[in-house]
Amino acid sequence: MNLILFGPPAAGKGTQAKRLVSHHGYIQLSTGDMLRAARKSGSELGQRVAKIMDEGGLVSDDIVIDLIDEQLTQHSGAAGFIFDGFPRTIGQAEALDRLLESRGSQVDRVVRLLVDEAQLISRVTKRFQEEGRKDDNPETFSARLEKYNEDTAPLLPIYAGQGKLHEVDGMAAVEAVSAGIEQALQ
Ligand code: AMP
Repeated sequence: MNLILFGPPAAGKGTQAKRLVSHHGYIQLSTGDMLRAARKSGSELGQRVAKIMDEGGLVSDDIVIDLIDEQLTQHSGAAGFIFDGFPRTIGQAEALDRLLESRGSQVDRVVRLLVDEAQLISRVTKRFQEEGRKDDNPETFSARLEKYNEDTAPLLPIYAGQGKLHEVDGMAAVEAVSAGIEQALQ
């Protein structure tokens, strides 16, 4: 099972991905987590992406595609993958298709978590206070939302056209959202 968890920042993708990992043993591939780890390690890659991330921009397709390629190879034979925060552009989506196809696989489902903007802002305000993630501050968050609307949301009609898109109410309680995702996986 290859599942894309789709939605704007703070829609709950990470939370739901972790639940799927514990229930199904799927591998979570979060490009945001990978990039934050690279920054923390002080690697050359981490230094290269720091400014873009802090400004709420998107790092280049080549960088995140390479990260995903590496992880798919590292976990070959996994029961499934959950893509969390990837793909975010049409170029990334096309690359993902190629990477999976070369491994005899494909994107099986795309689950969109629907959360309205007021709720996203209230969640991220809380997360900013609790975790202090620099890119959760109000100005940067609005840049991230804008990027989502401009570059990422256009993927929705593409996946809908492929019959892969399922929508789940992301404003419901965590358990109810998980149940909706499970239904989409049937
Ligand atoms: P996230 O935790 O998924 O919200 O990602 C945090 C930041 O990492 C984003 O605002 C981007 O700067 C960068 N990032 C994560 N995933 C991607 C991606 N697939 N493409 C481009 N940039 C990404």
